[in-house]
Amino acid sequence: MGEETKVRLLDLDRGELKQFVGTLGMPEYRANQIAERLLAGEDIGEITTLSKKDRQTLSEVAVSGIPETVLVRQSKIDETCKYLFKLFDGVLVETVLMKYSYGYSVCVSSQAGCRMGCKFCASSGIPFSRNLTAGEILGQIIAINRSKNIKIGHVVIMGIGEPLDNYDNVIKFLRLATSEEGLNISSRKISLSTCGLVPNIKRLAQENIPVTLSVSLHNPFDYERSEIMPVNKVYPLDELFAACREYVKLTGRRVTFEYALISGVNDTKRHANELAGRLSHLQCHVNIIPVNKVKGTGFERPDRDSIERFSGYLTEKGIPATVRRELGRDISAACGQLRKGVIEDGGEAGTGSES
Ligand code: SAH
Repeated sequence: MGEETKVRLLDLDRGELKQFVGTLGMPEYRANQIAERLLAGEDIGEITTLSKKDRQTLSEVAVSGIPETVLVRQSKIDETCKYLFKLFDGVLVETVLMKYSYGYSVCVSSQAGCRMGCKFCASSGIPFSRNLTAGEILGQIIAINRSKNIKIGHVVIMGIGEPLDNYDNVIKFLRLATSEEGLNISSRKISLSTCGLVPNIKRLAQENIPVTLSVSLHNPFDYERSEIMPVNKVYPLDELFAACREYVKLTGRRVTFEYALISGVNDTKRHANELAGRLSHLQCHVNIIPVNKVKGTGFERPDRDSIERFSGYLTEKGIPATVRRELGRDISAACGQLRKGVIEDGGEAGTGSES
């Protein structure tokens, strides 16, 4: 059987894995032994709790599904580390590991490329090739856990791709990541970032996986937001905020709004006032991200004072806002810069911020 057609075990939940090992004539409990080792980042050949014969039987029809690490870039300034992974069909994805006082956090990619076309984002320049499977998203975490001998406790789905444009796989990933039989990461420690696919925000609210919803807002005026984010033409702000309200109501979680501050584009008092007005009855928090330079976009970050001023306007109006601190500055680990820097090595060095 060719490698590409083999079953990728990380894509299976425990029930599916039990069924699968059953078809190979193994008892159900073998699924638990296999899963435990796969989640620790081991390959089929390393699962010594299985007999050699069982490992061989399994290898004939299945692979673990752990992505292959092709490049690791370690920041010299902080502990941020960027990984380039190769998937079974040669597709490349990027993942960023960050270290905080509360532990390790990882920024995973959910698609290879992105279809959303946001003007300020480097991922928009990458042609979309395909959705990642649940196991391919999970595998990014598992591979890093193993390579560093750590246990990542926080996850942000903010790498390449629009997670809500890959809904079923992302939901399955969330179940695998949060279940006790999976990585057992609390849903409260997972953030899903979306550019605003309204129907799927509403669906997510019903899934009983209360992750932190992060919405990439970047502009409080419809006509201006539509210029930098084409998704706004399909799901304008009123619909987006209504979906966010529904999310807060059903999950009890406050929503985070991401606001990439771009000099002269969305950083004026007029923007801050409108933003504060729009958010005044919503349980939320605004994350201000000085925009990261991406070649060819012409967008610049405002100076320090303008950033503080913008943040000040919001807090004065009672909207909790923080300016995101920078990590991985030297390795292009920042929002909107993933993959580009590695693939076109030596590209924009990055004025990074954490994801
Ligand atoms: N598609 C999802 C998740 C990926 S992008 C989304 O849109 O939310 C992760 C975050 O980085 C988003 O908030 C995105 O708007 C932001 N981002 C993209 N390019 C950026 C840039 N050049 N500077 C700062 N933030 C950027």
